[in-house]
Amino acid sequence: MPPVREQPRDLAALIACPRCDALHLAEPLGPNERAACARCGTLLVTPRTRSFLHVVALAFTAMILMVAAVFFPFLRISAQGLSHDSSVFSAAMTFADGILAPLSLAVLLTIVGLPVLRFAALIYTLWPLANGRPAWPHAAQAFRVAERLQPWSMAEIFVIGTAVALVKVAGLASIGFGPAFWAFCVLIIVTALKNAFMSKWTIWDAIDAR
Ligand SMILES: [Zn+2]
Repeated sequence: MPPVREQPRDLAALIACPRCDALHLAEPLGPNERAACARCGTLLVTPRTRSFLHVVALAFTAMILMVAAVFFPFLRISAQGLSHDSSVFSAAMTFADGILAPLSLAVLLTIVGLPVLRFAALIYTLWPLANGRPAWPHAAQAFRVAERLQPWSMAEIFVIGTAVALVKVAGLASIGFGPAFWAFCVLIIVTALKNAFMSKWTIWDAIDAR
């Protein structure tokens, strides 16, 4: 797909690269063709049904991993013969009484609530499209919610923050990772894969075709 040089007649046929803003003219693709940015190589258009199916499958996987990541033990801290298991849920609920209650709510919302809502909105949007059916009612609103929530889903930042904090604690106590820590790590990979398979332009195009 060459970059646009002349004035196009139909604005809907233009695709802007989400990474470098280069404008491209959309052309009809074959069933298994994909289109990438001519300048930076970012994926612009994906083959429809199959990529929708990938995203739905990965969003389901992410939701199941999220349950494991929140309720299974995340860390075991042992010092002087005492040991303590902690899950993300119990750690967040530590602040549930008193003046820090809003902190509990914010932690649960950004680590669990918003990512789950985002996965649910993606599944709602893409499930009928992946099965070759027209989009369900309000699919456009659901996908817009999923897009808006993306900057607020902070599972990755949570894992990095934990790793930094552990370096500090490691000198004082011995630390073991529980299943939830690994569930979070897999969750990050699954989320990255999902983003790699997802083309916003293709999804909007499929929703509009209804
Ligand atoms: Zn680009």
